[in-house]
Amino acid sequence: MVEVRCVGCKAMVPDSEGPSHPYMASAAGCWERYCSLEEWKGRLTGEGSIGVVQDLVDSFAVQHATNTDRRNVQSIAVHLMSLCSGLELGPTGRQRRVRIGRWVGRDYPVLEPRPAGYPITISDVAAAPAAMRSSTIERLAKTSWSAWSAHHDTVRGWLDDLG
Ligand SMILES: [Zn+2]
Repeated sequence: MVEVRCVGCKAMVPDSEGPSHPYMASAAGCWERYCSLEEWKGRLTGEGSIGVVQDLVDSFAVQHATNTDRRNVQSIAVHLMSLCSGLELGPTGRQRRVRIGRWVGRDYPVLEPRPAGYPITISDVAAAPAAMRSSTIERLAKTSWSAWSAHHDTVRGWLDDLG
């Protein structure tokens, strides 16, 4: 199988001709792996599962800071805010989802430098046995947030301003 390096998360993924997300640019094979988790996500139940899914969505987004398209820049900002609040402030997954909708309607600066890579990616989540996926996503969220450490104070500042 021919593999290519994803432009966002830098994981090696199958070379594919398929689609990728419209503005969170990734290798098509990386987007395929993300989409392959849909069925597993659909089987999750309970209030806590919303937070698990939010961690997954947030982590995929911040690992694919690949361009300066306004939507990409907004997406990186609000998903970093959601990751930070989930890890440091403890709102429910449902609250995070509502807040993202509120945060997204403004402009954010491009955050440079961007992380050079991530110890855990969507590929690791897709490869994990179903019973291990939630704990893998927990580590994915923590390490994705850590990778952006150069901008932690900026993101915390946005959270202070916007709540
Ligand atoms: Zn990727």
